[in-house]
Amino acid sequence: MLVLPDDFEPSLVRSPVARETAWWFVFENGELLVRSGEAGIELPAATDWPIIDGSVTCHLYLGTLRGRPCHAVALIEAQLPPGMRFEGLRGLWSRLDESLLGVAGHALQLIEWDRTHQYCGRCGTPTQRRDDERARSCASCGLIAYPRLSPVVMMRIDRNREILLARAARFPAGMYSVLAGFVEAGETLEQAIHREVAEEVGVRVKNLRYFASQSWPFPHSLMMAFIADYAGGELRADEQEIVDVGWFKPQNLPGLPHPMSMARRLIEDFVEHAG
Ligand SMILES: [Zn+2]
Repeated sequence: MLVLPDDFEPSLVRSPVARETAWWFVFENGELLVRSGEAGIELPAATDWPIIDGSVTCHLYLGTLRGRPCHAVALIEAQLPPGMRFEGLRGLWSRLDESLLGVAGHALQLIEWDRTHQYCGRCGTPTQRRDDERARSCASCGLIAYPRLSPVVMMRIDRNREILLARAARFPAGMYSVLAGFVEAGETLEQAIHREVAEEVGVRVKNLRYFASQSWPFPHSLMMAFIADYAGGELRADEQEIVDVGWFKPQNLPGLPHPMSMARRLIEDFVEHAG
């Protein structure tokens, strides 16, 4: 799971703790700057920073993790010293400390939001960061932009001891997952689930139960997972988003999504209870 750790305290006010103890979450093109240390993958040490040639396009103070200040930085055209490289967060799963990975997801989301809200969406005036809350505001018309979140419902559908898994056109070969979709304006989560299931695979569901949620900063989703029971209808892929769908038994599962994902957690929960 990609989770903001409990010992992270968000803040806009810089900690008086020395800069040398800070964590630096440095990104280029959505990838995090890391280096290989004695204990595995590490963030670059504060004493290494700034040692990289390249332009800083964004710098945000995030708060503290275990009392240490956290900074988010976006670079462009960085020239890295030997031993350092940029890596995607999904590839760092189980290799970088889980708390650091959680804060990195937060940092990535805020950087992307900050960089894409430089101008007012209503009147086009350059916006300013506010110092009383995480927001950017327009001095001309007063519009305030907050970090953006896109709610996504994810639903596992069970039928006796089988699970419905579908193959989206964009998935790597052989991979199947539970269904998911963006919540549309005006919908409840429940309505979004019924609509997505009907649209994508043509069946009806009942007995919706909330399972868990997870931030998915690629680029700004909030995944909200549910379990539902099959209620009727004939299975058919919509042939647009979904190219194949079927019922699977726990001992016969196809290729599954990334271990860090909520989808994987839903499927593992099914195996645990049905297997
Ligand atoms: Zn404006």
